[in-house]
Amino acid sequence: MALAVNKKRLFFTFDLEDHSPESPHLKRYPAITDSILEFLEVRGMEATVFVLGRLALDEPSLIRKISQAGHEIAFHSLAHVHLTRENPSRFQRETADCKRHLEDITGRPVVGYRAPAFSLTRESRWAVDIIGELGFVYSSSLLPAKNPIYGFPNAPAQPFRWPNGLLEIPAPVARVGPVVTPFLGGIYLRYLPLFLIRRLLAHGDLNQCYWTYCHAHDFDFREPFYRIEGTSLATNLLLWLNRKNTFKKLDGIFPYSDTPSGVCSFAKWIERGAFAEVPNFCPDRV
Ligand SMILES: [Zn+2]
Repeated sequence: MALAVNKKRLFFTFDLEDHSPESPHLKRYPAITDSILEFLEVRGMEATVFVLGRLALDEPSLIRKISQAGHEIAFHSLAHVHLTRENPSRFQRETADCKRHLEDITGRPVVGYRAPAFSLTRESRWAVDIIGELGFVYSSSLLPAKNPIYGFPNAPAQPFRWPNGLLEIPAPVARVGPVVTPFLGGIYLRYLPLFLIRRLLAHGDLNQCYWTYCHAHDFDFREPFYRIEGTSLATNLLLWLNRKNTFKKLDGIFPYSDTPSGVCSFAKWIERGAFAEVPNFCPDRV
């Protein structure tokens, strides 16, 4: 099984964000981030970390530490406002400011963007031009399937180029019965059994780019329960439960001992010339 998984391009991505009630004395994400960095270091893995601008303002030394450990710092919006609720001019201003700020902190260019909650949809595709104009090389912002929250069902599941040349690396999906679903991140990763995740990877489409996506809370099994404003109790319970085995799950997914070239960041993979030959996609023609 490990070999079959290994044939896929597999990346480790991490969205650095915090939705817990405001309490500067009880910030939990820095310590959890430290344990994620340790997990990666022990296994010689390089990650792409999509950072919320608000957290970069709050904890610049944490961002610097992640970057100095050899991981890619990418951008995940200022305050996790979904693109479908964004105002384009505010988005442009905040994104430009945050990109510059992250580059000042790390001393490296920030080339990757990820929309909050994969909210790049047919309706919010205006953002693609702004992301490209601001100098991002790639986006990792859409879910190429129908989904109860967001989704871009007609978009390719494999990496592709938007008409302005921006590279898109869509969220990996798999078919489970009649449903096309994400399976490598957040609650999907936490709730789906490991054997199923490995089977979906092993039988996955070779043209897709596979990556895990987690958040600090996905690992934080000691965090007290809280409710995110405007969301249901069931949603919050789903987010809160089943966090204890996330590292173990990732260990079962990344067959690190079998990957001599190592797991690297998106930026490094792009630098090496990957994704040079991806198809174009024009949503207005679909
Ligand atoms: Zn997020």
